[in-house]
Amino acid sequence: MKSDLLSMVNHELRTPLTSIITLAQIALESGGADAEERRSWEEVRKSSSVLLGMINDMLDIARSDAGAMAVSMELMDLGDIVASAQGTIGPLAVGARVTLTTTVAPDVPLVSGDYEKMLRILENLGSNAVKFTPAGGTVAIAAVREEATGDVLVTVSDNGIGIAPENQERIFERFFQVDSSATRIYSGSGLGLALVREYAVAQGYTVTVESVLGEGSAFTVRIPVAAVVELDEDE
Ligand code: ADP
Repeated sequence: MKSDLLSMVNHELRTPLTSIITLAQIALESGGADAEERRSWEEVRKSSSVLLGMINDMLDIARSDAGAMAVSMELMDLGDIVASAQGTIGPLAVGARVTLTTTVAPDVPLVSGDYEKMLRILENLGSNAVKFTPAGGTVAIAAVREEATGDVLVTVSDNGIGIAPENQERIFERFFQVDSSATRIYSGSGLGLALVREYAVAQGYTVTVESVLGEGSAFTVRIPVAAVVELDEDE
């Protein structure tokens, strides 16, 4: 029954929402509307995108609880994944007037993991970073190889509002939000980071945070050297 419910939610909620978002986008791009109408369409697009994000998170959580979270370990190029995440987060950053930078060091090797899940991890961390960084701030996504261990570290950092020490572990719990009041200014389900951690663990990776309140946060995904795929130079 659980899986029927999942596929119902998947189809019956996501399909109409996707049409709403697309039509709002078309209305905005047609350029015919006056300023006030445009603001309304912008609001329709934004609210339905937030809703779609929440439904996606809920579906992922439900899938994972139903034991239906399949992980495929395939050869991944982090350069591709970072570029793809930039495609999703870039427009959010532009809208929030936050600068987004991405770098992948040339010595970052191919790794073994689940492309879709790694992408969702970076999209969730990146959209949080943009959401919790005031206009004029900066968000950086960077992949490097740690010399001492050979591990690969993918870090999403921001110079936004930061997280108090007592909340730095709790934010990974389901539904936990630092500000959960009805008057809070940031929308969200409180499921994003719980999923990020589940996805990371499912692939044998870890996720940690370092943050200073009022200065910013850095979330690091550690891909262990065991997942590094060294290609033979001669092949
Ligand atoms: P939400 O849907 O609320 O963003 P998440 O699970 O993604 O849920 O995050 C949980 C909480 O962690 C957020 O509500 C916020 O309080 C805090 N948080 C997450 N990322 C950041 C960040 N980059 N800077 C400051 N706070 C953050």
